[in-house]
Amino acid sequence: MTKYVYTFGGKTAEGNASMKNELGGKGANLAEMCLLKLPVPAGLTITTECCTDYYKNNCKLPKGLMDEVHAGIKKMEKIMGMKYGDPENPLLVSCRSGARKSMPGMMDTVLNIGLCSKTIPGLIKKTGGNERFVYDSYRRLIMMYADVVMEKAEGIEPADGQGIRKQLDDMLDAYKEKKGYKSDTELTADDLKKLAESFKARIKKVLRTEFPDDAEAQLEGGIKAVFKSWNGKKAVSYRRIEGIPDDWGTAVNVQTMVFGNMGDTSATGVAFTRNPATGDNQFYGEWLINAQGEDVVAGIRTPNPLNDETKNEQNKHMPSMQKLMPETYKELCEVRRILEDNYHDMLDIEFTIQDGKLYMLQCRVGKRTGVAALTMALDMLKEGRIDEKEVVMRLSPEQLDELLHPILDSTDEKKHTVIAKGLPAGPGGAVGRIALTSEKAKEYRSAKIANVLVREETNPEDVEGMRAADGILTARGGMTSHAALVARGWGKCCIVGCDAVKIDFDKKIVHIGDKMFKEGDVISLNGAKGWVYAEPVGMINATENPLFKKFMKLVDKYRKMGVRTNADNPEDAQNAINFGAEGIGLFRIEHMFYGKNSEKPLAKLRNMILTDNTKDRKAALKELEPYIRKAAKGTLKVLDGKPLTFRLMDPPLHEFVPKLEEKDKIKALAKERGMSTKELVKRIAALHEVNPMMGLRGVRLGVVYPEITETQFRALFQATAELMKEGFDPHLEIMVPLTINVKELEHQKAIADRVKAEIEKKFGVKINYMYGTMIEIPRATLVADQIASVAQFFSFGTNDLTQMTFGFSRDDVNAIVKDYIEEKIIPADPFNTLDQEGVGQLVKLGVQRGRSQRANLKCGVCGEHGGDPASVHFFYKAGLNYVSCSPFRVPVARLAAAQAAIEEERAK
Ligand code: PEP
Ligand code: MG
Repeated sequence: MTKYVYTFGGKTAEGNASMKNELGGKGANLAEMCLLKLPVPAGLTITTECCTDYYKNNCKLPKGLMDEVHAGIKKMEKIMGMKYGDPENPLLVSCRSGARKSMPGMMDTVLNIGLCSKTIPGLIKKTGGNERFVYDSYRRLIMMYADVVMEKAEGIEPADGQGIRKQLDDMLDAYKEKKGYKSDTELTADDLKKLAESFKARIKKVLRTEFPDDAEAQLEGGIKAVFKSWNGKKAVSYRRIEGIPDDWGTAVNVQTMVFGNMGDTSATGVAFTRNPATGDNQFYGEWLINAQGEDVVAGIRTPNPLNDETKNEQNKHMPSMQKLMPETYKELCEVRRILEDNYHDMLDIEFTIQDGKLYMLQCRVGKRTGVAALTMALDMLKEGRIDEKEVVMRLSPEQLDELLHPILDSTDEKKHTVIAKGLPAGPGGAVGRIALTSEKAKEYRSAKIANVLVREETNPEDVEGMRAADGILTARGGMTSHAALVARGWGKCCIVGCDAVKIDFDKKIVHIGDKMFKEGDVISLNGAKGWVYAEPVGMINATENPLFKKFMKLVDKYRKMGVRTNADNPEDAQNAINFGAEGIGLFRIEHMFYGKNSEKPLAKLRNMILTDNTKDRKAALKELEPYIRKAAKGTLKVLDGKPLTFRLMDPPLHEFVPKLEEKDKIKALAKERGMSTKELVKRIAALHEVNPMMGLRGVRLGVVYPEITETQFRALFQATAELMKEGFDPHLEIMVPLTINVKELEHQKAIADRVKAEIEKKFGVKINYMYGTMIEIPRATLVADQIASVAQFFSFGTNDLTQMTFGFSRDDVNAIVKDYIEEKIIPADPFNTLDQEGVGQLVKLGVQRGRSQRANLKCGVCGEHGGDPASVHFFYKAGLNYVSCSPFRVPVARLAAAQAAIEEERAK
């Protein structure tokens, strides 16, 4: 029989930290903490496999599961000295989710399970007559249970603002107002008793079922509800964003309740063993006296600081745990040490103090900003906790990318006034329009408008809006609130707990301090400091960080695959070299016909395109040649000593002439060229192709008009010869695009040989260069061995290779791809991340066949996938010599390549 239940407690456990797949992160770490002899309330974990089986079984608990649970509860009872459902000495439990990967706040939890009319008197007696505490726990159970088990898990979808939780919250607020109470703690036992009764009546009226007054029913309901919450709306959208597979399932942890709300010697808190925003080696956390865990993470009350060292704007006037409970604080510091010594990483912990006694409720590797990840990894290297390879593995490519992202320009910042301060919860800076709802943030994102999501509190329901926003600003919540955790995990600029923010949803306005803003007004955030500005502030890059340089040195030490860049002008090339590029893997010459300074060469190009005879074409090309030479020479000079792969021209020609319907442009161009409009229209019509992506482009252009190839070879060889004469060291590689067979390469090579000999003679130099091809049509991968008899290198053009393999037009397939992903027909956009099982196999085949002909064939990739970490891993395994990507992705590609090499070594 499958074992579904693993117990822990009493300083021993059936599981351990390595069992995340079976027990989920929370369950595995609870077991590990028991093995480390830390004070953990006894409990049991129901496996993720059970969740999968539950879904396979039409949402029914597998047979025998509850028997296993009861056996586990027996063990818990023995360790804790209490009994579940017992009228004298009742044990209460929590039911909490826990997937393999942490999904903060995305699934449901029910606390205080087991409280019912049979057990309430016993608990009151046991707590020395603490009726207030018992009824407070009871009303919390009712609120959570109604929401999670009776409404959400039942698939009831109430109208906006009509959910049972909201209704009960409103009742609580109304009651407090009637009594003139400011805080929950003023509610008396009597108040709470009354509230519990009216809650139950409301639940019956709205949900048409009774709140179960039976410990057994509550337990089963709680377990099922946690399984159900795996498929709740917010959990599903979080999984989509994070790429977590649907079939992983969640574990359920049923654990003995300990109470942080038993009075002023009780408390609950959340902490990080190091600062998750900056990486500083300080114990960082928040706690609340007389409260339960949900109060801290939901961001309802502003929590107290853990110690004096880490006080911030919001809590500097509040007493720390170090001050109020020095003994327990010391004990907690010891827990911190034990955990870091065991895990060699920064951990995020949850704890509760029940009547002066400390209990650990959770620990997991903590989410952190890119800056914090960098700082901690290098600190831990110094402390001897991890080695250099582990340092390289500690920063995800996304976190590194986040370091490359802009921050507010501090010089410009000084010119503006800070209008409000909150907690610096997520890194970097953000400048954008105010969005007051997730919907608005998503709307802005799809219109590519930078935006800042401004919300009252930190609500996990907003996960999609948070993703769509460039920055997040909330009025309430602490550094460990869910919004802060999620934002930090994504490296998103985020400020929480900014109490100067007052939102009026009806009027769609927000007051920040004494300023009023409409939705759509622009504000700026400094996520590192928690400062808000009323106007747009300038942004700059963050790569000058010396730790960043040190880290990248380690990355290069363990990296085996080369990283080049796609660049076609000296500035971009220099930029990429500064980012660590080892050469250019793709120089697209046609880019000189776009944008700045393109008018003159574009006019020459048009002359060449629009002529209908070879003589005029050659004359136009002669005028164009100096421009090509200049462009190539300028960039080759910057690269001095590093290779530059020049791709022969690959433009669909019609892109460079006006469209037939652009009458005014045609008229003007005809005049400029001294030809009749009619003649020009005829020529443009002749250039028209039904399917230009599959038409006269790439090498076909050079075969149909060899003089175009000749001009480019001449420009390139002359630029090389001139640079050699000037004392530079040009490493030229020329590649032919869109090749389908070896004959094309031979055809173009004959021209190259002839022109090269001419230039060598003229300049009295010997030019060395490499001749290669792009592999971007499926056919080329199939005949790669023949092609390699002439090509000295391959560069996989995975943009076109994806286009041609899928038959998806790369220019207008977006809408289709979106639907395909939603319908789970394809897992991701194949133009962003390589389709490994299809296009990837063609890449592998091309490499194998090419090298079967030419063993030392150099292979690289220059499609957009060269900057995508998952694709880089694949290319490394496929045996490519290098990847080439846009300048800003170069550090990310370097890191991904190093991690691929380390992973390969570790797998051995
Ligand atoms: C490619 O097709 O992958 C490529 C790099 O060429 P382009 O994007 O210029 O077509
Ligand atoms: Mg291409």
